[in-house]
Amino acid sequence: MAEAGLGSRATAGRRSSELFAEACRVIPGGVDSPVRAFGSVGGSPYFVARAEGAFVEDVDGRRLLDYVQSWGASILGHAHPAVLDAIAAAAARGTTYGAPTEGEVRLAEVITEAVPGCDQVRFVSSGTEAAMSVIRLARAATGRDRVVKFAGCYHGHSDALLAGGGSGVATLGLPDSAGVPASAVSATIVAPYNEVPEIDESVACVIVEPVAANMGLVAPVEGYLEGLRAACDHAGALLIFDEVITGFRVGRAGATGVLGVQPDLWCFGKVIGGGLPLAALGGRRDLMSQLAPIGPVYQAGTLSGNPVATAAGLAVLELLPEEAYAQLAESVGRLAEGLAQAIGQSGLPVEVPVFGTLVSVFFSDEPVRDYQGAARAARSGLYAPFFRAMLARGVALAPSPYEIAFVSLAHSREDIDRTVEAAADAALEVASGVGA
Ligand SMILES: *Cc1c(COP(=O)(O)O)cnc(C)c1O
Repeated sequence: MAEAGLGSRATAGRRSSELFAEACRVIPGGVDSPVRAFGSVGGSPYFVARAEGAFVEDVDGRRLLDYVQSWGASILGHAHPAVLDAIAAAAARGTTYGAPTEGEVRLAEVITEAVPGCDQVRFVSSGTEAAMSVIRLARAATGRDRVVKFAGCYHGHSDALLAGGGSGVATLGLPDSAGVPASAVSATIVAPYNEVPEIDESVACVIVEPVAANMGLVAPVEGYLEGLRAACDHAGALLIFDEVITGFRVGRAGATGVLGVQPDLWCFGKVIGGGLPLAALGGRRDLMSQLAPIGPVYQAGTLSGNPVATAAGLAVLELLPEEAYAQLAESVGRLAEGLAQAIGQSGLPVEVPVFGTLVSVFFSDEPVRDYQGAARAARSGLYAPFFRAMLARGVALAPSPYEIAFVSLAHSREDIDRTVEAAADAALEVASGVGA
C-alpha cells in the first residue's frame, strides 16, 4: 500500500523522483531502456534499491509485488540464493578472460539437450545481438537478402529488425526508428502476425516469436506455425524462432517443445542468462558451422559467454525441471482467471490471454490475435490508470500495455490472490473514473 508519503496518484516516491531528475541530466530521458521511463502510463519510474523473490523494494522503502521480473529474465524470482552463490563463486575466479571457459560448454550442452533440433549454440550478450547475428547467418546460408518479420513481434534493436516492432517501439508509438536508413530495412518485409504470408525464393528467412509476447500476449492460431514451416520449406527459406522470452519459460524445450514445430534456427535470451547479460543463437549444425571461425559468417563479442553469466544461467536452468513449469502454469492460470473475473466485474472490457506460463491483460472486448488488435486495446487508454491504481496498491505491472506480466516461481498463491484483490479494487476505481 501507499507508504513513505506516497499519494495514491503518484507513481514514484520522493527519493525516486529526485533520482529521476538527476538521471535526466546525465542519461537521455533518465533511463537506459525507453519503456522504463513510464512514458505510456504517466508519472515517473520508481528506482529500485533491492529485490528478493517476487518483490522489489524501491529507494523510498516501498515494497512492490513485481510482475516485471526484469522483463522475464528472472524466472526463479529475484536474488535466488543458488544463483547468487553461483555468481559469487564465478566472480571470485575472475569475471572475464577473453578465453574459453568450461561454463560455456556446460550451458551449451544443457540448451542443446533440452531443445530438439538445436545442435549448437553461440553465446552473445543480448537478445538484440542474437537476432542480428542469426539473420546474418540465415542470409549467408541461403545467399538471399529478404527477411520476413511480423508486426508487433520484437527482435531487439538492430537496424534491419527495427520495422513494425513490438515492445518499446510499440509503447512509444514510433513508426519505426529515426536513424535507420531505408537501405537497412529495404529487405525487411513486415507481415501481420497469425497469417501465413506468401514466401518466395527471394526470402532468406522468416523470423517469428512462436508465441508473441511483445505486443501483450498473442498466441499463434491453429496452423500458423505449421503454415510458416511449410511455406519456408517450399521456398527454401529458413525459419527462425525468436525464443528470447519463450525459451525455458514455457517449458524446457521452449515453444518448440510445446507446439511441436521445429525451426531451423533459434534465438534465446532472458531466462538463460539468470539475470545477467547473456543470450544465444542456435540451430542445426550445418547452419551453425557457417559461423566464424570455421565458416565465413563473422560474429564475435568481447564479453560473449562470460563465466559469471554462464554460471548464473547454469544455476537457473538446473532449478527448472519440467515440474517447475507445471507449478508456474498453475500460478499463471490462477492469476489469469482471477484478473479476468476481477476486472470483468467492474464492467471494464477485458481479455486475459494465457499460454501456459505466459499471461497478459488487454482492455478489449474481443480476443486479440495480431498487432492491430493489440493497438486497438491500447487505444482504450485504460491500461495507464489501471497500472497506476495497481502500483498504488503495491503491485508493479509492466509500465506499458504492450508488455506481458511475468510471474516467477517465487510468486506464492497468497501473492497471486493479493494481486487479484488489488485488481478488483483498482478496476472499480478506473471504471468509476477516479483513476483517469
Ligand atoms: C527482449 C527480447 C529481445 C531483445 O533482447 P535484449 O536482450 O533486450 O536485446 C529479442 N527478442 C525478443 C522476443 C525479446 O523479448
